[in-house]
Amino acid sequence: MNVKEINTTIPQSALLKANLTSKQQEHIESLIWRYTQKTANSKRLTQKYRTVLADPRNASGFNLLLKEMYYPTIGEKAIGSKIWDIDGNEYLDFTMGFGVNLLGHNPPLIKAALQEQLTKGIQLGPQAELAGEVAQLICELTGMERVAISNTGTEAVMAALRIARAATGRQKTVIFSGSYHGHFDGTLAKIKTVENTKKVVPKYPGVPSNWVQDILVLKYGEFESLDIIKTHAEELAAVIVEPVQASNINLQPHDFLHQLRQLTQELGIVLIFDEMVTGFRIHLGGAQAWFGVKADLATYGKIVGGGLPIGIIAGKATYLDHIDGGWWNYGDESKPQTETTFLAGTYCKHPLTMASARAILQYLKAQGNQLQEQLNQRTSKFVARLNAYFDADGVPLQMTNFGSLFGRCFSANSITNSQSLNLQNSALLIVNELLSYHLLDEGVFLRGSSGFLSTAHSEKNLDDVIESVKSSIEKLRQGGFLI
Ligand code: PLP
Repeated sequence: MNVKEINTTIPQSALLKANLTSKQQEHIESLIWRYTQKTANSKRLTQKYRTVLADPRNASGFNLLLKEMYYPTIGEKAIGSKIWDIDGNEYLDFTMGFGVNLLGHNPPLIKAALQEQLTKGIQLGPQAELAGEVAQLICELTGMERVAISNTGTEAVMAALRIARAATGRQKTVIFSGSYHGHFDGTLAKIKTVENTKKVVPKYPGVPSNWVQDILVLKYGEFESLDIIKTHAEELAAVIVEPVQASNINLQPHDFLHQLRQLTQELGIVLIFDEMVTGFRIHLGGAQAWFGVKADLATYGKIVGGGLPIGIIAGKATYLDHIDGGWWNYGDESKPQTETTFLAGTYCKHPLTMASARAILQYLKAQGNQLQEQLNQRTSKFVARLNAYFDADGVPLQMTNFGSLFGRCFSANSITNSQSLNLQNSALLIVNELLSYHLLDEGVFLRGSSGFLSTAHSEKNLDDVIESVKSSIEKLRQGGFLI
């Protein structure tokens, strides 16, 4: 490794800004030293290809103070609940492909399905042999009537909104702040206060302002949002919800969703559930089954692809008929009746994806909802154990979960705790970041503030991660970041 790669010098400007004590500075420097040695090849490869590989994952959340550790863990292999990086380090994985790997990594049933398909080849011109079966299984498990298949969740959301516009002849859509629906321009809007007036503006440079003119960004779970929907009813094609937002897992607005369903039904607005994370996870029938709300359209992805890229647009036939014109038969006068919009994609219904999707759907069907119920319960227990430790030890953190999705929760309790602990300057923010590096250093892979349990995680894995959290917190205390 060359000197640059094991540099532990923190830029002066970052040190001045963070206003660290010498104890804190030493703590960070020794973590940088340890972590960059341990993951030297990930760092080396990231730097080697930075000139040619423009990687958005290398752009978000840049913190000058920790820049020496700012590179992705480059993975070599993954089995069950574990991943290994290119330096040979083993990690217990709680990112689980951002929610893809419900059964853990590389489950034999998916591997076998892919191997079988590979021997037959990857035919993209003809229709994939398994596409119909996949659609049928999705309809059976979710209770939806028809299904269209795309390559990513982003595409599915884009297509669902397009269908809603085509079906209603209206332009505007409602999204809720805090939700994530992928990177389609038509969902990348936010509220900004300009001269005391709230305006909807593009969330990122390059998102056309024309697009966001047709988006209302409302508060999730708040009943005043329903009044706003009523006011704009004539113009609204769709309301799209991320039923439980990964960014705010604690908000699980049962009553709001029921009232939203009733209202949108009355007003002829298409209600879309974005079930990318919740689908097949919280319940076989997703968040709709969990909350007892039936959407007009729903989008799925992640789990249902069995590890390969997929996006699903599912829903009532009356809406999905805008994809292909709807039902017709041979041997009579029938023909497509519904005016179609456009959905395409070279890789849609890719044979490998169809093989892995069919394999996981068949498995989930055979298991029944008990798979989800057990995993949900295990996650709740795991989160309760972590919270019991945080409470008993005065750690200003709280976790929450929605089924097997878990994450940080920003409860009044955790804020009060941090205030009473009198954390210095911006230390609370740094503590979060340092904690994830300490966890990596301890062999726990958790990107961002939320994670997933899979059926591959054993009780021993959960005991181990709790020990790693405790040990990381202890190190942060010794480093002067927590009292
Ligand atoms: N919708 C939700 C709720 C998501 O969580 C995601 C991805 O994380 C998407 C849409 C976009 O899916 P994809 O990343 O497959 O494009």
